Amino acid sequence: MKTQVGIIGAGPAGLLVARILQLNGIDSVILERRTRAYVLERVRAGVLEAGTVDTLRAYGMGERLNREGIPMRSMQLCWDRQKADISLDDGTGRHLTTYGQQKIVEDLILQREADGLPIVFEADVSSLDDIENAPRIHYRHNGEDKVLECQFIAGCDGYHGVSRRHIPGSDEHVFLTEYPFAWLGILAEAAPLAARRGFAHSTRGLAVASARSASVGRLYLQVETDADPNAMSDQQIWDELDIRMDDGTAAQLNRGPIIERSVARLRGYVCEKMRHGRLAIAGDAAHIVPPSGGKGLNLAVGDARIMAEAIRRLLTTNDTTLLDSYSQMCLRRIWPTVHWACSMCEALHIFPGQTSFQTRMQYQTLNHWGNTEIGQQRLRKAQLGLPYEI
Ligand code: FAD
Repeated sequence: MKTQVGIIGAGPAGLLVARILQLNGIDSVILERRTRAYVLERVRAGVLEAGTVDTLRAYGMGERLNREGIPMRSMQLCWDRQKADISLDDGTGRHLTTYGQQKIVEDLILQREADGLPIVFEADVSSLDDIENAPRIHYRHNGEDKVLECQFIAGCDGYHGVSRRHIPGSDEHVFLTEYPFAWLGILAEAAPLAARRGFAHSTRGLAVASARSASVGRLYLQVETDADPNAMSDQQIWDELDIRMDDGTAAQLNRGPIIERSVARLRGYVCEKMRHGRLAIAGDAAHIVPPSGGKGLNLAVGDARIMAEAIRRLLTTNDTTLLDSYSQMCLRRIWPTVHWACSMCEALHIFPGQTSFQTRMQYQTLNHWGNTEIGQQRLRKAQLGLPYEI
């Protein structure tokens, strides 16, 4: 099989690169290891920066988002039985939007299928070659070994994908920190309460309450890295969430059936070398941020914009200028965002062996973000996201 751009991975990054290329008249084939049903049902991120929403609208993916996205104009921080409600209004009308990642993925897949464009599901990519001249992607599909020939490879295959290791010397450009805790994430059929939405620091560990829709909540508890997602009963989870989110008022979460549970490790990871020859990587293939900032999906969208434009310029006018500065341009958004997500992570979790002095230091950080003008400005700016250069 032949195409102009071979895209590995049907996550938000790969699907968006494909969509932008399509609208610029460039053909692509997406190879995705998982089944269609698995990709459509995979629950992950859900808080979109204004820039992400604008991007999706600009590329014709705003219809359901405009209908079902829930504007989020404030967020709460809770610690030591107190709460700060921080406005996200920076005077420009921008705000965050709650809209599940799986809806974005579904919107993009359905649009691509309606346009009759190829996504090969259950296509497991094993290796790439000749990435400097005439790239080839080797993959296995329906029990057969196959090859996709292309002019450029978009490596959008997530943290565990194969693309990154085909960038020569990429290991020497990797920066990693692994946190000694994980998040138990649940999806619950329980209407999220406006008065109970945000991040809570508790001496028992972090808790987070967010909305996926008016009737479905996404909530998290800090747990051990090897925690079994099924170890706690539904009632134990709800009780623990209410204890950890105690803000000194009598408010309690709405409860309902838990319909999904998973445990995810927290790490910060950046590969600074994001391109070699005719291969570039985007999204989780290049960086992982702890979910405390709600930034992973938003960063993937930022990379996808730059990658698609760099590919367009290469394939239409043979201009490599943007491609040559691809890593640097992406990293100007990635590092400050990773820094913010890690700062949130470190202020909100209880670390093994943490002293009461260290807990008091965390309270000071949270008080700064929650109750001082300069701290609130910092939080607002970081949560709303950095502007795009392209
Ligand atoms: P992915 O969405 O990971 O897509 C990569 C795709 O490549 C996958 O479909 C994968 O199957 C495919 N692939 C991998 N290897 C191959 C191969 N060899 N051949 C073919 N295909 C391959 N972010 C937030 O902002 N907030 C959150 O609350 C949040 N929660 C998360 C919870 C979990 C459990 C996880 C794992 C992530 C979460 N994230 C969250 C991060 C966010 O979901 C990611 O940043 C986002 O999915 C990145 O998109 P992507 O397209 O780069 O990668």
